[in-house]
Amino acid sequence: MPNRRERGEGMRVDGRRNDEIRNVKVTRNFTKYSQGSVLMEMGDTKVICTAMIEDKVPVFLKGSGSGWITAEYSMLPGSTQTRKQRDIAKLRLDGRSNEIQRLIGRALRSVVDLTALGERTIWVDCDVIQADGGTRTASITGAFVALVDAVNAIDKVTPFKRYPISSAVTAISVGVVHGEPMLDLCYVEDSKAEVDMNVVMNSKGDFIELQGTGEERPFNNIELMDMLELATIGNTALIEKMKETLGSSMDRVLR
Ligand code: UDP
Repeated sequence: MPNRRERGEGMRVDGRRNDEIRNVKVTRNFTKYSQGSVLMEMGDTKVICTAMIEDKVPVFLKGSGSGWITAEYSMLPGSTQTRKQRDIAKLRLDGRSNEIQRLIGRALRSVVDLTALGERTIWVDCDVIQADGGTRTASITGAFVALVDAVNAIDKVTPFKRYPISSAVTAISVGVVHGEPMLDLCYVEDSKAEVDMNVVMNSKGDFIELQGTGEERPFNNIELMDMLELATIGNTALIEKMKETLGSSMDRVLR
């Protein structure tokens, strides 16, 4: 009879199988003033994602008829095990936050027809209130839900001729820990991963962005394929969660 290791069961710190994501909880309308406001929880990682509409676009898009979506990402000082200095205290964003917020913006823009959105900007803010691995991926998935709510808020007042969102977008981390490919790493796993990778996908099953790092050691093609397979399992599970959370709003996205 195969042992637990061979069955891939209960080997992880939190008892998950290698192909299992953490518990996901998505709370919409979390705060009052943003058109989209979501508390996104993936296990112990918690991110507040808001989406706010501004009726103008950056200068480079003025008169183009096209809208814009942009994102900011930050970690609260008390969100990490040792206090994380506020970005503003350093008078400039740290490189990691900058990289992450650009990733979030690209992920969201990949599923939106900016011309259909019209000349308006949607500002998405992702604030990590508790970090336990996978904050950028939780930010992307949570930001997508906030974006849908913001787009629907516009639609209610000024109906779109063409609905601007063409697909859902979700993201998940994968990695190789002690030689084993794993899905959705928590901090303990992330901090000892030999390889780690963030995978952004849309609801058509296509890849939007892959960020893979073999800093500890290089990874081979077989490991890459294993990680992409796990990421597909994870993102498919997240799409199911999106359907549950967004209900009929998701039907419109997937149409
Ligand atoms: N982390 C931290 N302080 C930092 C950056 C990261 O404590 O300044 C922790 C946090 O738990 C985070 C994890 O390390 O989720 C992994 O960070 P990484 O840069 O890989 O990004 P993430 O996985 O959060 O997208």
